[in-house]
Amino acid sequence: MSPTSSRPSTPQATTYVKARCHCGLNEFRAGFPTSALPISSDLCHCSSCRHSSGQMAVYHVDVFDLLCHDSDEPFHFKKMAGCDGDGDLIAYQSSNDGVRYSCSVCSSQLFFRYLGKVVEGSDGEREGGYLRVAAGALERTEGIVKPGYHIYVQDTIDGGLADHLRSIAGVDLPRYSLDVGSEKLPPGWKDEKLSKQGSRDEDGELGPTPTKSDDTLHFSCHCKSVQFGITRPSSVSSFPSAAYPDLLYPHDTTRLSKVRNFEDTKWWLHPPGSAHPTKYLAGHCACVYCRLTSGFELQSWLYVPLANIVDREGKSFTLFEDNDDEDLRVIREAVDKLGITQLHIPEERASRKKLKGLKQYISSPGRYREFCPKCGATVFAWQAGRPDLICAAVGLVDETQDGARAEGWFTWCLDRVGFSEQAVSPATVGGLLKGMQASKIETADGVPAKSVKLATPLLPVRAGIGYVERKETSSAATSARFVDGIQAS
Ligand SMILES: [Zn+2]
Ligand SMILES: [Zn+2]
Ligand SMILES: [Zn+2]
Ligand SMILES: [Zn+2]
Repeated sequence: MSPTSSRPSTPQATTYVKARCHCGLNEFRAGFPTSALPISSDLCHCSSCRHSSGQMAVYHVDVFDLLCHDSDEPFHFKKMAGCDGDGDLIAYQSSNDGVRYSCSVCSSQLFFRYLGKVVEGSDGEREGGYLRVAAGALERTEGIVKPGYHIYVQDTIDGGLADHLRSIAGVDLPRYSLDVGSEKLPPGWKDEKLSKQGSRDEDGELGPTPTKSDDTLHFSCHCKSVQFGITRPSSVSSFPSAAYPDLLYPHDTTRLSKVRNFEDTKWWLHPPGSAHPTKYLAGHCACVYCRLTSGFELQSWLYVPLANIVDREGKSFTLFEDNDDEDLRVIREAVDKLGITQLHIPEERASRKKLKGLKQYISSPGRYREFCPKCGATVFAWQAGRPDLICAAVGLVDETQDGARAEGWFTWCLDRVGFSEQAVSPATVGGLLKGMQASKIETADGVPAKSVKLATPLLPVRAGIGYVERKETSSAATSARFVDGIQAS
């Protein structure tokens, strides 16, 4: 079946787009009114969206109709008797008016339902409700949906992802403090409490790191089932050995010997090469795996040694494959049957402590994703070959400590988006790269951030990849600074 088709029985012409979560348990077709395409929607930065997803912003789009992927039957959120094409979603009510639905197996955040206002004088009856679908789950977005504006930027304290994603296809995205129509906040805006604490004094020295408590940065999912903290880099932070991530060296264009990091550079610690690093590397990823397990086109990760992650009591924990214990049980039974007493078998879960509240999704052998099964938030991603260096979801950061970007703790990679070649919407990644370069210039100059317009292409033009936006004009001064700052082609 073609990715899009019209449904003749619908009175209004409808365009259908295939959508799915990573594990494929939920697969469906989302219908949009053809006359309204492309649908401009919001990127929401509110605390509920960030903490219930683990992403820095959430991007859902109004959906008109939902059909099963393999038939013209309506798609149900729970399996219905006699209907093969239905899904299996966990519902989580994150507010009085809103319910989020995520895949029970891979945690992809596929839908948001606004329940509507309670009708006055009624018995809890509601009106004006609607359903939205996660744009990252759609097989294609170009010409169908586009991020049009940022909302609830105020909740981020420091501008969050909105400072990195400023425009798409040359069009600036308005940044509303709250809902659409509220006060607009300029790029570089920071909440007063944060800008005061982090501002430079007369000698140009940065003020104290704007954190409530400088020794631990806290993370939590929306329902608070999962809570952890990270500590400042210490002597154990350089113990892991790890290949470079695609974020730093694109795997398809870099020599394997380099990617493998034979020199054993501790690339996750910043400043690079420092004897006393104070920060960790963070960056955005656009890979298919991140997109389909999250439901958002971008997943922002922090790279942090497991040794620097603590539970809510400040104690360390381990991450391991859930099936390990089952395998050990089978081995133990077999050994008991044979009467072998001298064989050493590793201890079971009792002696190994995992962080409370996590559920595991094994996306492929040796690749793990840990999430909250109650609210659906992405928490960690890790690999069997690198179990002591973990990716933590930036969206769970306690933004009241140091803002949603936590720049007192993280050094953001502003030169590349991981796996940008896999992006479903090259325009979004192109816009993100432009915004990141603008942020880089502002940070390097040490000036209070202000809007910087860029004029030059940010990515080399590759056959078949249309990242480059050429429409913008800007002053010669900012163009010259920009060309100095990056490789122009
Ligand atoms: Zn799934
Ligand atoms: Zn929100
Ligand atoms: Zn949760
Ligand atoms: Zn990824």
